Amino acid sequence: LLQLFRPLDMLGWVYRTIRQGLVDMAQMFQLMDTNVEVEDTPGAPALVVNRPTLAFEDVHFGYDKDRTILHGLTFEVPAGQHHALVGPSGAGKSTIGRLLFRFYDPQQGRILIDGQDIASVQQESLRAHIGIVPQDSVLFNDTIGYNIGYGREDANEEEIIRAARDAAIWPFIEKLPKGLETEVGERGLKLSGGEKQRVAIARTLLKNPPILLLDEATSALDTRTEQDILTTLHRVSEGRTTISIAHRLSTIADADLIHVIQDGRICEQGHHAELLRRDGLYAEMWNRQLSEEAELEDAAE
Ligand code: ATP
Repeated sequence: LLQLFRPLDMLGWVYRTIRQGLVDMAQMFQLMDTNVEVEDTPGAPALVVNRPTLAFEDVHFGYDKDRTILHGLTFEVPAGQHHALVGPSGAGKSTIGRLLFRFYDPQQGRILIDGQDIASVQQESLRAHIGIVPQDSVLFNDTIGYNIGYGREDANEEEIIRAARDAAIWPFIEKLPKGLETEVGERGLKLSGGEKQRVAIARTLLKNPPILLLDEATSALDTRTEQDILTTLHRVSEGRTTISIAHRLSTIADADLIHVIQDGRICEQGHHAELLRRDGLYAEMWNRQLSEEAELEDAAE
C-alpha cells in the first residue's frame, strides 16, 4: 500500500515545491530524482536570519550508505562574503548545494545559518532565505512578466520592472511590442541562454534573499554575454552571502575565498593568487583552462 501512496506523496511534494517558487531548481537538483526523505520535525521553528553567516561543520554525506560523497567537510562563509567552490567533475560541489537547500540531511555533522542548524528549522523558511541562480533556468509557457514575478504573487508591475532593470533584462523587454505581456517558452518567444539567466536573476532579486547560491553555466555563453552576466551577478550578490559553484575559474578569481574540492574533501583553500602560488590542483586546473582557451582562440582565427 505504501508503494501505492508514494507517487501521490511525491506529486504533492512537487506541487508544493513549485508553489514555493522553487521550480528553477528542477535543472540543478533534478527535482523528480530527489528523495522525499527530509521532513520538518513537528513544531520546528522558522529560520530567523539577522546575520547571514553560513557554516558546514564536519559534514559527512552519501546518497547511498555504502558510498560516502562528502568526507567531513568544514568551512565557514562570513556574512556578506563571496566564496567559490571549484574542483573536478564529481567532486561533490552540487551535493553541497543540495545539502544547503536541505534536499538531504547529512549523516554526520551540521550545517548552520546564523547559528541555527538547518535540520531543525522549517524547510519553507530555510528556502525562503536562499536564492538560486541555476545553470539553465526553466521558463513557463507564459508571459515574461509572469516568469519574473513567479514565486512572489504579491509583486506589482513596478517591482517586476525594477527587478528586470537590475537584472539588465529590461532594455530587451521594453523593446518587445507586448513588453512584459510577451509570451515566452515553447510556443512563444524563444529566449537565449543569457536572457533566460537574466530572467532567473530578476526572479531572485524579487525574492530578495540574504543568501545566494550561484551555479555557473557549463554550457558556454559567448564571452561578452558571460562577462555582462557576471557583472550583473556581482552587483546582485553585493551585501549577500554568496556561494558560487564555478567551472570557469576566471569567473571567481576575485572571490573572498576559494575552496577546492576533490573527492568530497577540501584539498586547498585560499585566494586566487595564493592558490596559484601553491602550485597544486587549482594551479593545474587554471593552467589547463588557460591552454584550452588559447587553443580555442587559435582555432577561431
Ligand atoms: P560537476 O562539476 O560535474 O557538476 P559536482 O562536483 O557538482 O560535479 P556532484 O553532482 O555533487 O559533483 O556529485 C558528486 C558525486 O555524487 C558523483 O560521484 C555523483 O555520481 C554522485 N551523485 C550525485 N547525485 C546523486 C544521486 N542523486 N544519487 C546518487 N549519487 C549521486
